[in-house]
Amino acid sequence: MSAPSATPVSRDQRALLGPLFELAGRCPALAAGIAGTFRSGDRDHDIVRFRFQGPRAEHDPLRIGLFAALHGDEPAGAEALVRWVSELAGEPWRVTGYDLTVYPVCNPTGLEDNTRHNRAGTDLNREFWKRSAHPEVGILERELLAGNFDGIITLHSDDTSEGLYGYAHGRLLNEALLKPALRASERVLPRNRAAMIDGFEASEGLIHRCFGGVLSAPAQQRPQPFDLIFETPALAPLDLQVSATIIAIETLLDEYRVFLAHSINL
Ligand SMILES: [Zn+2]
Repeated sequence: MSAPSATPVSRDQRALLGPLFELAGRCPALAAGIAGTFRSGDRDHDIVRFRFQGPRAEHDPLRIGLFAALHGDEPAGAEALVRWVSELAGEPWRVTGYDLTVYPVCNPTGLEDNTRHNRAGTDLNREFWKRSAHPEVGILERELLAGNFDGIITLHSDDTSEGLYGYAHGRLLNEALLKPALRASERVLPRNRAAMIDGFEASEGLIHRCFGGVLSAPAQQRPQPFDLIFETPALAPLDLQVSATIIAIETLLDEYRVFLAHSINL
């Protein structure tokens, strides 16, 4: 389970994130930072955080946390966040009213080793809010607490799925946002319409239940943010996974804006 991949593809987090660090140096809306550093083996590893502040709207900025590569062998989400934020620097109106905090690589040792698990051999996405001993989880839990996000979007890819799908955690708001996001991203890649996905009952690519210990909002946070997992088919061409993910994220944000406008009756 924790053995290194048979085809080691060493991915360098610095190479992946380099363009965003460079961009942060000349784009005032984008800031780069380190969420936390931990030691694994004989080296320190950083969990990197980027913050992009969209143009102001009439409401308070909506704080969204976006998380990718919690499984190190699923780089599509990380690539999507890097490309999306790069595009936003030139077209910030796409996220008017939003304050984005982006964590492209939540599992840096897994990304380096091209493994689902971290280098200590653990699936980090079963460890949240369980007093995990894994430093990556502690760093991200602190970010989730401090971020007090209005919305949380986690990106994964699944090599057993031939299409796009998502987890809505059994909440109506999540479903209401995820449905149009799947519909929109379906222009790029097919949707998984199987009755069972990843061992869960599904309908139209939407799964209501979920594993325990996944990255999620703190249970005590009120009101609870929207909280979604978006999955791409890992064997599809990477650029299509990236495009589908960007379409899904922007649709989620547009739909959330609509939802808020209705609920506060602007
Ligand atoms: Zn995953």
